[in-house]
Amino acid sequence: MEPFTHDQFISNVAAAVKKECRCSIPGFQKIVSFNFEDYGIAPTLLWDSEILIQEIIRNGFVALDEGVQHQGGSKRRYRCPSCERSCTEIYTEYSINMYRSFVLFDEDLRAAHAEYVLGYRGFEQKDFDKISDFSRSLDFDLYLANLTTNKNE
Ligand SMILES: [Zn+2]
Repeated sequence: MEPFTHDQFISNVAAAVKKECRCSIPGFQKIVSFNFEDYGIAPTLLWDSEILIQEIIRNGFVALDEGVQHQGGSKRRYRCPSCERSCTEIYTEYSINMYRSFVLFDEDLRAAHAEYVLGYRGFEQKDFDKISDFSRSLDFDLYLANLTTNKNE
């Protein structure tokens, strides 16, 4: 599979995910919940997650508060305009060009595992091996299906 640019990801992945409410899709909840703190590693972001959070949550959901600022970041509550599920978005900056975001839904429906097509950026490349519940996708159709459909349906 050819690597995606961020612009291609926005037009090929984010646009498809955005077509409908995906809040109840375990794969969608899982990917936007990526948090390096779960692995005891140096600050790391997942590009797939960052772009989906920007396009779907920040640009598409209803903000429920002004956002609480904390040192180097913010925490904000959002609600989906379709299904009314709510979630918390956390944004933290570690340096001028290192930051990360993640989103946790109040109703936790996360899959055990998620795939990515863009990949990580972090302070320590060797850390990426410790992230066992995310892996690089080898099949784009399957990747997109995991973000847009509920396998249990
Ligand atoms: Zn929704």
